[in-house]
Amino acid sequence: MRESSYPLVSVQDALAMIQRQVALLPVGVVALPDALGLTLAADVHAPGAQPPFPASLVDGYALRAADGHAPRRLIGEQMAGYVAELTVAPGTTVRITTGAPIPSGADAVVMVERADELDGLVTPHPGQPLHPGLGIRPIGSDVRMGDRVLAAGQTLGPAELGMLASLGIDRAPVHRRPVVGVFSTGDELLEPGQPLGPGQIYDSNRPTLLAAVVRAGGQPLDLGIVRDRPGELERALMAGLAAADLLVTSGGVSMGELDLLKPLLADWGQVHFGRVRIKPGKPLTFATLPGRGADGAIDPAQPARPIFALPGNPVSSLVTFQLFVRPAIRRMLGHSAVGLPQIVATLGQSFQLDPERPEFHRVTLRRAEDRFVALSTGSQASSRLLSASGADGLLVLEQAEGILPAGAQRPVLLLDGAWWDG
Ligand code: AMP
Ligand code: MG
Repeated sequence: MRESSYPLVSVQDALAMIQRQVALLPVGVVALPDALGLTLAADVHAPGAQPPFPASLVDGYALRAADGHAPRRLIGEQMAGYVAELTVAPGTTVRITTGAPIPSGADAVVMVERADELDGLVTPHPGQPLHPGLGIRPIGSDVRMGDRVLAAGQTLGPAELGMLASLGIDRAPVHRRPVVGVFSTGDELLEPGQPLGPGQIYDSNRPTLLAAVVRAGGQPLDLGIVRDRPGELERALMAGLAAADLLVTSGGVSMGELDLLKPLLADWGQVHFGRVRIKPGKPLTFATLPGRGADGAIDPAQPARPIFALPGNPVSSLVTFQLFVRPAIRRMLGHSAVGLPQIVATLGQSFQLDPERPEFHRVTLRRAEDRFVALSTGSQASSRLLSASGADGLLVLEQAEGILPAGAQRPVLLLDGAWWDG
């Protein structure tokens, strides 16, 4: 049996090498709707106070607390969105709505439910305590002018985008989304939707990986199917290096006659590792290649492009994407947490361990009282996509002899879309 000349590296060492080679992408300024999921490239300070004027917290009556519980005369109303130019003198009150500016002279707002209004007179209920500031949001009570409201590195989600909008900010400095080029290699591959010829199979890796790129926050670039011929691979690689920040390929990295990708990567750039001690996905290869211009020539002004050559087997390529490519994309995006979220689950059945490699076993999770229970998705053959379809997570099984009994506890890495009832 032929053996690869590349040393087997551990998952941890592989991840460390990737993090060393992959850099944050440059900063651009984007409109808020395009910033969802991106990370801020600079701190954001409030250009003004919030609220910018003293505002009513409730629908009710603006009045003077010192007037006590005596009836006062209603002199007008102040809704949100304008200033009514009313002055609340002793013994008077103004009807007011939530968010409306407090009229001058008033120092408290009593909720409409806590006062009686009759014949133009408003009387606070006897049980309603009255003190200056009641029912009022003072200027800057939510955000003071100059406060740092968001920090560089923070991810812009719905709340953060709303925060920016509330301060009148309509664009944000962010690390841009990496363009991730994806191609499949193999003479046997056919686009879905066409009739299979003898010996052919459908290319399932490309749609899988393009979708996974979107989930990871990258901008996918479909580079098609590349045949197992040296000229074709070189052309595809050249095009990818010119158009993408990161490349993901599948197939062509095992020990077959036509597994031509690894030598090409070693020839054109630097292979950081060519095998990982992991099940599934041992042939995973990671390299950096010089960036290229649109004409295909090496462009020294461009940063080196990371390239992940994933194994061809569909499950191997998806699992190695989740474990290794996703962190690289998230690092380029500026996220500090790059790995999959992890929980501890109780095994709902026994699991055979592998003495040669740690295994990332596809499982479903269900909640049982205070625990998560993990069950295998069945045969873990690396060709069997059904083992990944519907999976909630990757159960991390250590490299060891023997069998883990049901009831043991082990980490599970959560996959996108892992949800459970309750
Ligand atoms: P390779 O790594 O190229 O030797 O491929 C390993 C196995 O994965 C072979 O059975 C291939 O036919 C299969 N395979 C490779 N690429 C794909 C793909 N894009 N979609 C589905 N199966 C693939
Ligand atoms: Mg192949």
